[in-house]
Amino acid sequence: VWNFSAGPAALPLPVLERAQRELLDWSGSGASVMEQSHRGKRFAAMAAQVEADLRELMRIPANYAVLFEQGGATQHFAQIPMNLAREGDSADYIVTGHWSEKAASEAAPYVRVNVAATSKADNYLRMPARDTWKLDPAASYVHIATNETIHGVEFQDIPDVGDVPLVADMSSDILSGPIDISRFGLIYAGAQKNIGPSGLVLMIVRRDLLERQGRPMAKIFRYAEHAAHDSMLNTPNTWGWYLAGLTFQWLKENGGLEAMAERNRAKATLLYDTIDGSGGFYRNPIDPPVRSRMNLPFTLHDSALDASFLQESEAAGLLALKGHKALGGMRASLYNAVPLEAVQVLVAFMRDFARRHG
Ligand code: PLP
Repeated sequence: VWNFSAGPAALPLPVLERAQRELLDWSGSGASVMEQSHRGKRFAAMAAQVEADLRELMRIPANYAVLFEQGGATQHFAQIPMNLAREGDSADYIVTGHWSEKAASEAAPYVRVNVAATSKADNYLRMPARDTWKLDPAASYVHIATNETIHGVEFQDIPDVGDVPLVADMSSDILSGPIDISRFGLIYAGAQKNIGPSGLVLMIVRRDLLERQGRPMAKIFRYAEHAAHDSMLNTPNTWGWYLAGLTFQWLKENGGLEAMAERNRAKATLLYDTIDGSGGFYRNPIDPPVRSRMNLPFTLHDSALDASFLQESEAAGLLALKGHKALGGMRASLYNAVPLEAVQVLVAFMRDFARRHG
């Protein structure tokens, strides 16, 4: 079967197979990785390797810390303003879909939120043009979601926001291709799409931002404390950390992020071309230059066919194509673990379905 889930999403098969092999006896310890102390030598060595692999894959400069956080990306919608803004400070939010809208609303108790641009009036079908953004040079940071998992829009280039630190929710497109880390102040991502199991949040943060005072808060919320304690201020998500490490190794063995970018471009192009070439049977209304490479929502020309499409696709081994309830229709998520072959099988099914029901 091929799994097109938006998240938690498919992991690379070799990652799951290796985790299965190592489940009962990890690293010659005679016990599972889940049963090891995070303070032990074995776990510490693994954690250091995982960070080194990520730094190599993403070319993370030395002046950035890597944190292995918990709480889901949603918790960090609130925790980021707690850390980066003092009482009374403001932050700019670019609202381009469900998740950046939620990031802004969860931040609101902790920072004065300025929605500097939004495409809500366009139903999030396009990006607000950069020259319309009303950025405040005194803002604590500018927040974007690089890819909107539900609405299927993605920044194709990192926007220039001047000297204000750019904070990016990359939950659904991290590791999908190379990026210039130095353009960002802080990057964060829930793990459950391109990294590993849910419950782990990867964060890459410029070290000078860790020195910001933020607002008064308990240590457990303060990123600087997490960085000072190698993300082990309390018991971390050890299992998630381990699986993330297996994914990073798989990425390294498969050509790194340049190869992923090429694969992801080919996968998305094949599916968009199939939708656009279906004579209106399938539709994706997103402005083509900002269509997501990771999450492709589409509708059938007649929603009365939705149930048959889902039933037949599942019977053909194509799983989790049902769209998000906010948009209806279908959505195919094409994260790193989904091979080109899966998309080839999907488009063959779609063409055949259209022929039979057109
Ligand atoms: N941001 C984006 C872009 C997402 O797709 C999601 C959904 O998983 C979230 C944030 C929320 O993540 P979590 O469920 O880990 O809090």
